[in-house]
Amino acid sequence: MVYFCDDFFSRDILHVDMNSFYVSVELRDRPEYMEKAVAVGGDEENRHGIILAKTPLAKKYGVKTGEPIWQAKKKCPGLVILPPHYDKYIEVSKKAHKIYYSYTNQVEPFGMDECFLDVTGSKRLFGDGYNIGNEIKSRIKRELKVTVSVGRSFNKVFAKLASDMAGRDEICEINRDNFKKVVWPLEIDEMIMIGIKTKRKLNKINIYTLGDLAGAEPDMLRNLFGINGLKFKNWANGYDDSKVLDYYAQIPIKTIGRSITCSEDLLNEFEVRAVLQKLSQDISKRLIENNFLARGIHVGYRDHDLCSFGYDSMLDYPTNSSIEITELAMEVLREHRELENRMRAIYIRAIKLVSDRESIQADFFKDISSHEKSLSLESAIYFIRKRYGKDAITYANLLGDIKMPNDGREMVIMPHSFFMNV
Ligand SMILES: [Mg+2]
Repeated sequence: MVYFCDDFFSRDILHVDMNSFYVSVELRDRPEYMEKAVAVGGDEENRHGIILAKTPLAKKYGVKTGEPIWQAKKKCPGLVILPPHYDKYIEVSKKAHKIYYSYTNQVEPFGMDECFLDVTGSKRLFGDGYNIGNEIKSRIKRELKVTVSVGRSFNKVFAKLASDMAGRDEICEINRDNFKKVVWPLEIDEMIMIGIKTKRKLNKINIYTLGDLAGAEPDMLRNLFGINGLKFKNWANGYDDSKVLDYYAQIPIKTIGRSITCSEDLLNEFEVRAVLQKLSQDISKRLIENNFLARGIHVGYRDHDLCSFGYDSMLDYPTNSSIEITELAMEVLREHRELENRMRAIYIRAIKLVSDRESIQADFFKDISSHEKSLSLESAIYFIRKRYGKDAITYANLLGDIKMPNDGREMVIMPHSFFMNV
């Protein structure tokens, strides 16, 4: 039933995950807190402030990532809260990428503190994945003063699982000979992409472990989850043929995108629209500055369980209008019924860019006059802001708290296409 190229079993893939990333970077610079229960958290004055990362000691007290600070302090009264420094995290992340790239050019970031590496072709130069993983682990510790967990396997799904199983500053390997023994006893939600909703559904049909999933009836999975169900089963059996992308070669030069992790989950259409509008305004500004129009958009989000979803869609007319970009993004999310989900992070990208000097073909069936109005409105706003400042003009629905933090976290690299639309 499954066609599988044997080559994939001989791949050598690493997943490198920095341990308690934000908190490790903070403690590196403030060693006086080393022995204390510490967490990195959003603005404490703000009642929306949440825990973004914590030390193992804080974890022992039951402190959880994502919970409000006041709640965490109840569990752990002596908890030290340090404010986040996203610029530092980005710097460390970039330096780590540089180290990875010195072993292979197939490096695919997954969030800011995780990366997949395909080192199959690096053997002759650097030794096998185990050697490379160990070397990376000690280099990062030595050069960046943070620790990582490394997972090594023959596919991405298991490599990620292996790094989850590895302790701090350890390397763990899942190979063809041991995966049934190592992976199959695990609970299903240990595997990437299986969140709480999927887990509940699977539990209902008596699938609890990854071994259960590996042996499950394909038709039953297909009925419940469509094509994804079969994918989950294949993954549990070690059949994951997704490639590790070369992140930098992968980014098309001509796209302009923005993303943000919100201070709280977005819960309804109104909230999603406000954030998208804000992001689109930045995109629009950059389109105008670079004399581009977008012919399409890519919009996506990361949900409460940190699963990612994303879609491409084409615009009626090439545009730099934030309104048109927002409207299309909303339409796409609505169409796929995504607005019913809780969104943690959102990203949007203008794609298929063309020069704004290119003349466009009017389509008789689409209203070009409203499109032209949007374009001139956008350029009016652009010039007002340029002259009188960013806050000189805005939309009424963007006033007040729209759950967008203002601390630089929008610079966080969003996960890549592998986990989208699976
Ligand atoms: Mg991590």
